[in-house]
This record gives sequence, structure tokens and C-alpha cells, in this order.
Amino acid sequence: MAQILFVPYIFILLRKGSDKMKYDKKLVYLDYGASTPMNKEVFKEIEPYFYTFYGNPSSVSSFSERSKMAIFNARERIAKAINCQRNEIYFTSGGTESDNWAIKGIALKNRDKGNHIITTSIEHPAVLNTCKYLEELGFKITYVPVDKYGIVNLEYIKNAITESTILVSIMFANNEVGSIQPIKEIGEVCRQKNIIFHTDAVQAAGHIPIDVEKMNIDMLSMSAHKFYGPKGIGILYIKRGIKIDNFVHGGHQERGRRAGTENTPGIVGLGKALELCNSNIIEESNRTKYLRDKLAKEILEIPGTEINGPDYERRLPGNLNICFNGIDAEILLMSLDLKGICASAGSACSAGSIRPSHVLSAMGISPEKCKSSLRFSLGEGISEEDIDYTISTLKEIIGSIRTT
Ligand SMILES: *Cc1c(COP(=O)(O)O)cnc(C)c1O
Repeated sequence: MAQILFVPYIFILLRKGSDKMKYDKKLVYLDYGASTPMNKEVFKEIEPYFYTFYGNPSSVSSFSERSKMAIFNARERIAKAINCQRNEIYFTSGGTESDNWAIKGIALKNRDKGNHIITTSIEHPAVLNTCKYLEELGFKITYVPVDKYGIVNLEYIKNAITESTILVSIMFANNEVGSIQPIKEIGEVCRQKNIIFHTDAVQAAGHIPIDVEKMNIDMLSMSAHKFYGPKGIGILYIKRGIKIDNFVHGGHQERGRRAGTENTPGIVGLGKALELCNSNIIEESNRTKYLRDKLAKEILEIPGTEINGPDYERRLPGNLNICFNGIDAEILLMSLDLKGICASAGSACSAGSIRPSHVLSAMGISPEKCKSSLRFSLGEGISEEDIDYTISTLKEIIGSIRTT
């Protein structure tokens, strides 16, 4: 209890002590894993769909043609980006909705075939809490463990499959430690056993290449605001022939499976953002990796620091997760914030209490270390100068925390 009260209090004190917030002068945004700024080209492309081409794409008038065409073109761009057909793409309100639909939709449609679902212990809450809800409805969920790097073992998945398994849902890449899962291999196992395979690719899309055909993926979630598109728009890819419950009941939009007037600007923005990302995905990934590795190398020179998560080959290019032993991550986060550096704690704050991250815990990391861990996630706007500033600021803050 003491800690619950203590942390916000410290924050208020620190804020009071620095009236001149430095945001105007310096902002180093290292929280791309939480959301990204919209690309200006994306913004330019979607702007007319708010006030010039505002016709309802489902209307029959010629005025609606422009919005209809825009949605068609976005579908085309997305289909190209992940190697699927246009009519396998369904627009949703984002990653959370796509995950909900994929899991509930398959569960409810395939009750006659079985009631068993396999997922992992490190999924996003959008998947974990959907699975918990299904448990209340009588479904059986197996949460396969991960190794100390945050990666699932294919053998565990094979062993977890039973006669009544109807769905395997495993994230493409983890949001906290960036671990990339053996998606193609998992998909292959599912194909052999005739089990539907869904992947939450919200962290991966736009950042590492995705090919649903080659990777044996049946369903895939993505969200535009994680790759420089607008918030509140995502897709669920559903391979043709898959039987899934409709998710939002209403009009005939999205072939009646997800009704409601299409979010034309959002859809246009998602398509444009994904196309832009894919046009230089390797170059941008290499640039980000270089900066991330530099940040990692310099932070590791600070005594008592260690990396959480996998080696860099099996890690998202922009992700770094560090344990600062003996230092409260929340305090560090707030001190960085005051210097204009925005990172994120590995632990989720819920109702004022700080719980150790379920992801780090699943990797076998002690609660103590969890509470000393921070995530730095890099993206397009980060320069080498930002990294240098972050390193020197970190060294300064940690030095002062350790001497007081
Ligand atoms: C952000 C995120 C989501 C949720 O996506 P929203 O569009 O914000 O609802 C789901 N899964 C992962 C892995 C994420 O990083």
C-alpha cells in the first residue's frame, strides 16, 4: 500500500520541481510500441475523405463512387502487402477488435467440432482476456509457456493439440520484449492437423515482412496506429473458406460479417501507411536496428543492467527491454519523462497498483526484476542524436538515483 501512494506522490513532487517542462524543447519518443505518429503523407491522402469525398461508400449514388473506389484501392494495397486476396480482408476498429473477432468468431462457429483453444502466456490482453471470457462459456484454453527469451517451443504446441482443438492463436511478435515467434512452423503444424491458425501481428505488420501464404497463416490481426496510420482502424485477414461467426450484426458492409458504415479515411490511411512501410521495410528495419543496438550497447555499460528478451535476430527491429537492477522502473520512467524522454514500463499499471508484467513473469523473470524493467521502442522519427541524448540522460539519472 505504501508504494501505491508513494509513486504518484513522488511524481507530483518531481513535476512541481520543474515548472519549465521541456516538451517544446526536446521530445524523444521511445514508445513506438504503444502507438506511432501518423505519417504526413498518410494524413494528406486521407484528408479529402473527411470533407470532400464524404459520401457513404455503400450508397448507390455516383457521389459515393469516390469513397467506394478508395476502399477498393486500400484493399488492393493491403492484399499486395501481405500476399492475400482483396476479399479476404475485413476492416475493423483495430487490433483489439480483430483479436476478439478471430477468437470468439471461430470458437462460437466451431462448437460442434470442439472446445479447445491453444494460445500463449505472453499474448496481448486483447487475446488473453478474450480467452478468459471463453473459459467462462465453457471453452478449454491451453496457455503454452515460453522460454527465457519469450519464444514458444513448437513441441509444446504439438503436444497441446487434442481431438477437440479448434484454434491456435499465437502472436507474431511480442509487444514487450519483441520476441518473434516461429510463425511459419506453427502454421505448418496447424495445417497438418487441420486446425485454424490465427496470429496477432499488430506489432509485426509494417515492421517485418509478412506473407500469409508462405507463412501458413489462416487469420491475422493488424492495427494502423502501430505503423504510422490512424488510430481506430485495423484489419482481420480471414483466409477464404474459413467458417467464422459474423461479428457485428447490421448492414451488408464487409460482406455482412462486420456491419457498420465503413471508416473511409481510416481505411485509406491504413492502406497508404502499410504500402509506405513496405516500400522500404528492410532499409528502415536496418536503420532502426542500428540505433537500437547502439542504445543497448551503451546502456549495458551502466552497472547492473541486463537485456530482457531474445537475441537480435529473433527480435523486432525497434524493441529493447532492459532491466535496471535495484531501480524502480516507475521512478526511472518519470525521471526520463521530465527530461522529455518517453519510454514505457514493462509492468502494466492497473487501478493504481503496479503489477509485474505477465510477459516478463512468463519468461521466468523475478517480480523484482520485472519492476526494474523498461521498454524502449524505436521508430521512424528517432535519430542518432536522440539516442545519444537518451544515453547521457539515463547515465545521469541512474547516477543520481544510485548515489542518493
Ligand atoms: C496494440 C496491440 C493490440 C491492440 O491494438 P489496438 O488497435 O490498439 O486495439 C493488440 N495486440 C498487440 C500485440 C498490440 O501491440
